[in-house]
Amino acid sequence: MNYPPLYLRKNSERTVRNGHPWIFSGAVERRPKDADTGDIVDVFDSHERFVCRGFYNKRSLIRVRSLTQNASSAIDQAFFEQRIAEAAEFRRGTGLSTVTNAMRLVHGESDGLPGLIVDDYAGYLVVQFHTAGMEKQRQTVLAALDTALCPMSIFERSDVGTRRAEGLKDRPTGLLAGAKPPEFVEIEEHGVRLHADLYRGQKTGFFLDQRDNRFLLQRLANGKRVLNLFSYSSGFSAHALKGGASHTIDVDVSSRVMHSARRNLEANRLDESRTDLLVADVFPFVEELADRGPRYDIVVVDPPSLLRKHSQLKQAMGVYTKLNRNAFRLVVDGGLLVTASCSARVSQEDFFQIVRRASAGARVRTRMLAYNQHSADHPVDPAFPDGRYLKCIFARIKR
Ligand code: SAH
Repeated sequence: MNYPPLYLRKNSERTVRNGHPWIFSGAVERRPKDADTGDIVDVFDSHERFVCRGFYNKRSLIRVRSLTQNASSAIDQAFFEQRIAEAAEFRRGTGLSTVTNAMRLVHGESDGLPGLIVDDYAGYLVVQFHTAGMEKQRQTVLAALDTALCPMSIFERSDVGTRRAEGLKDRPTGLLAGAKPPEFVEIEEHGVRLHADLYRGQKTGFFLDQRDNRFLLQRLANGKRVLNLFSYSSGFSAHALKGGASHTIDVDVSSRVMHSARRNLEANRLDESRTDLLVADVFPFVEELADRGPRYDIVVVDPPSLLRKHSQLKQAMGVYTKLNRNAFRLVVDGGLLVTASCSARVSQEDFFQIVRRASAGARVRTRMLAYNQHSADHPVDPAFPDGRYLKCIFARIKR
């Protein structure tokens, strides 16, 4: 098979050959004449040797997203079926199905499927098409999903910001195949009953990537007072309550998340435990509270990504540092700060620096009890560092 050829500049093929799936615009010597955004192209090095086959986007800085380095591999339904089956096989190897019935089945580039997300909530699949290339393959991909996984239902949530960078519009949320999901799909993770809001929730309805960190909190929360900042549907608090927390306070700026939050707290609250839900902007809230001194055994800080472009890194690090400094000031001696950053542009080293500066600013000593990334259903390929985004530190505090 032949796809339109794209030629790279001299010595621009190395990272792709080493497994990184992106080719940036600066690496392109000659663009394909007869290929449009979203088409599949064949990439050759300056010696006209085959490098990879991938999705082309003439508008994006990421000019090609590699699908395969195998020149004899056609990009057809069988190709997608095989990749999806491999992704499902990887999840089986994680043992996750013994602790939960909700997991990410396909995680884009990390599963060799750039721009495709598939999450499974108790048998209801939710798909997102993030890239122009994957969007163009929509029907083939949906047919492949059906054959490879025989799902009970496929629902679409392609209302993500990343589509705009690819020149794509949002698509209406809705059912693509099978049974219509209920308003809140009940799921379970590590003995905790939770609900995913497939229609209106953030991401595909739930933050699956924090699963391990929620479970660790469950094991540390017995008898503790927990303040959960940027709480979304109160997943961290539901786990803390399951673990015996005496009191939880959840703070989120969005009043929409409170429906699922209430359900999640009620499903897991012990008789004597108390829960409070507040709609507030965390930044001024935490500043004001911090002035009144330490009062929580555990504070969780899980903000949304605070930057879009790399040029915003310095400013964002300042915001993260101030936020964490205020959070540290709220934790009692011997207590715990659970702090996360979900921005891929904040590196592990940047994040350590944020926590170091914040603890110095709050005059506390910290030692890390744990340092985690996303759960195993969001796998990381070491050749693709851009795929690493979530960092979460559990820090024990001494005053
Ligand atoms: N910890 C959650 C996920 C948090 S996602 C979980 O495990 O499920 C980040 C949340 O921060 C979102 O729910 C968003 O509504 C909220 N948020 C964004 N900006 C905020 C702000 N300034 N103040 C309070 N909440 C905010």
